[in-house]
Amino acid sequence: MCIFCQIIANEIPAEKIYEDENILAFLDIHPNNFGHTLVLPKKHCENLFDADEKTLENLITIVKKISLAVKSAVEADGINIGINNGEAAGQIMPHLHIHVIPRFSNDGLVHWPSKEYGAGEMEKIGEKIREVIKSS
Ligand code: 5GP
Ligand code: ZN
Repeated sequence: MCIFCQIIANEIPAEKIYEDENILAFLDIHPNNFGHTLVLPKKHCENLFDADEKTLENLITIVKKISLAVKSAVEADGINIGINNGEAAGQIMPHLHIHVIPRFSNDGLVHWPSKEYGAGEMEKIGEKIREVIKSS
């Protein structure tokens, strides 16, 4: 059983802040800011790609509720919401979870650097993605 499934099964302790039939939310043990919360489906799936649509609808609705609660509780100025999907994207825990990270105007966290497209590159990549969407 994965570590998050063990938390769901109460075999490992966690600072739980919300629980219903399908969803659990608890505080991240190594927060980017205090109040950093992980929201996850109780039904084990590895990432966004193998989660069913109903689970995802449920999850995002609860993420909104949790985000508002975290923002209010820690008096945050904003919230980052994110999924590290796959090892290359920084996913360490192999059970789908959404990060809800409270942000403060002066918290000093640095955003990812951006890149510049060369001439015609953006259109080429846009076309490739549109083709995949059309054929899916
Ligand atoms: P990932 O990189 O997979 O998106 O993030 C996993 C997150 O889970 C990390 O931010 C990490 O601090 C958190 N985490 C890992 N193990 C535990 C644990 O046993 N308990 C809690 N509450 N958080 C954990
Ligand atoms: Zn699991």
